[in-house]
Amino acid sequence: MSARDRETIEALARVAAALDGAVLGLGTAALAVASLGKYLAASGALRRIAEAPAVAIPDLRYSFLAGLRDGESRLAAVRGIVRSPPGGTFLTPPGSREHCVVTRHTQTCLFGEWRGIFGWTFDLHALFFKSLKEQIITSSRWVSFGLVDPASEKLREMVHVKFDGAVHQSLPLTTVYHKLIPVEQNSYTLFQTIVGNGYPIALLDEEKILPIGKEITAIGLCRLKNQNVEISLCPDLPYFLSDLTKGEMEAEMSSRARLFFWVTVALGTVSVGLLGHAIYRLWERVKRHREAREAQERFHEADNEDDAGENGSDDEPGEMGDGQLCVICLRKRRRAAFVPCGHLVCCCNCAKRVELLDEPLCPVCRQDIQYMLRVYDS
Ligand SMILES: [Zn+2]
Ligand SMILES: [Zn+2]
Repeated sequence: MSARDRETIEALARVAAALDGAVLGLGTAALAVASLGKYLAASGALRRIAEAPAVAIPDLRYSFLAGLRDGESRLAAVRGIVRSPPGGTFLTPPGSREHCVVTRHTQTCLFGEWRGIFGWTFDLHALFFKSLKEQIITSSRWVSFGLVDPASEKLREMVHVKFDGAVHQSLPLTTVYHKLIPVEQNSYTLFQTIVGNGYPIALLDEEKILPIGKEITAIGLCRLKNQNVEISLCPDLPYFLSDLTKGEMEAEMSSRARLFFWVTVALGTVSVGLLGHAIYRLWERVKRHREAREAQERFHEADNEDDAGENGSDDEPGEMGDGQLCVICLRKRRRAAFVPCGHLVCCCNCAKRVELLDEPLCPVCRQDIQYMLRVYDS
């Protein structure tokens, strides 16, 4: 582990332990809330997917959408085969002769990690910051397309996919081209190798397409527009176009919701425990502080009463042995016991002077003094 990793771990541990774990407790609570949000989103999406009926493409126009007014839409899941609309065009990606309707070209810059001379494989710093360094360039092209029923392809009924807003959605794409281009090592990459902990090693060039003829599911809002049946993205749903069937989507969402539910329960329990502990410790500390203050006030009161009364005989050095004299002034009787160490070595005046120091320490054992007790002989 490098020195920087150790520093990162130490800093994290210090922050986590601050305020008796209250910071860690709040952090865990924030994670629990985030996880609860994801659980609610997943279970909401699951409900909407379950609500969306699976409709065969030929049934859409005359039964499912019949009776809807202009501009109204209904949520549905349709499964069909990708086709270009009549009179439409198609794309051919570079490096392949397959006809398709969507192409996505991605270039990812891959970084190697500097593992030091002995080849450490665990670099905490890289773990946290590596994702920031990956540079991705994406460009997409698409033409209008639709889905036809897989069972009766001969029918001319087609659902037109309104694709505009869905470029950044995950799509059921097929990879047709995949190439790793090594980056030539030059003096600049050498410099990065020495200074940073990451350096570019290769460029990953990928071309993915949505081919004509692929069977996919579209789940979204269906409506009639210009005599065409159209399906568009429903913003509440995590899916739009997918390889999965509707049943598989439901299964995936419900396992996702279950996972986030249990993560929320676990994180919530841990954060309640941590925060409870921190509050208990804080309360204990406040109580101790108040007790010390009260004891100190009692000490001062007792001492003031002594000063007012006749205690002259007490402080005659001649009548006391060395074991009873204040170790600081060597004149008065030892009267003030320090708590918690319990040493009885100072007279009340000297004890009060010790108390006024920045860090009140017992002159014998150098322990912290929380408060003093006035001691009486009989
Ligand atoms: Zn003294
Ligand atoms: Zn002491």
